[in-house]
Amino acid sequence: MPTRRDVLRATAAGAAALAAPRLALAQEGKFTLPKLPYATDFLEPVIDAETMTIHHTKHHQAYVDNLNKALEKAPEWYGKPVEEVLRNLDKLPKDIQTAVRNNGGGHLNHSQFWTMMTKPGASAGPTGELAKAIDASFGNLDGFKKAFAAAAQTRFGSGWAWLVVGTDKPLAVVSTPNQDPPLLDGKAPVLGIDVWEHAYYLKYKNARPKYVEEWFKVVNWDTVADLYSKAKKS
Ligand code: MN
Repeated sequence: MPTRRDVLRATAAGAAALAAPRLALAQEGKFTLPKLPYATDFLEPVIDAETMTIHHTKHHQAYVDNLNKALEKAPEWYGKPVEEVLRNLDKLPKDIQTAVRNNGGGHLNHSQFWTMMTKPGASAGPTGELAKAIDASFGNLDGFKKAFAAAAQTRFGSGWAWLVVGTDKPLAVVSTPNQDPPLLDGKAPVLGIDVWEHAYYLKYKNARPKYVEEWFKVVNWDTVADLYSKAKKS
């Protein structure tokens, strides 16, 4: 008759045996590509399905893969939120800091970017506290769009334009180069547009201003309001 202790021991051994193959794949805690929150053609015609597919499964996947590869030299950071890794860049080995900044930033920015968009026209516009904050910061929604579009269009080369929680006003528009996330400057983003050519070139070619103008149609204002509310509380 097995004792209770025997049973527990056997169960623990069984669990360890089940867990072992997963550990053997060395995937525990590594960063993974999040699923898109919608089908690849959901943002058509503003963003075409082919661009979405390549952007998600090639570009975003590459940031995830290269982040994991860089952190092979500092595996204690696997399993930590990517924001925490980016806030602690100076604690990483010097020779991987740039790779983690670029690829960790790319992973974070794209993970947020997908949730900031929805079906064209499905999200009417900012309401409530967010609408008040936009009016207080930019005069009105058009004022915000002009400031945001200017930041997106004048970002030389590759980068992002952002709406962030402000210091003297409730909200501010900034832009960042490459894949630098606003948190590197201590700022909390509530909306961001990817202005790397890979985000628009198949459909808009060199016409970044046209892409930016069309992109306002897919902004998910519910996500923006949610991020704004969370950022104000933290
Ligand atoms: Mn991108």
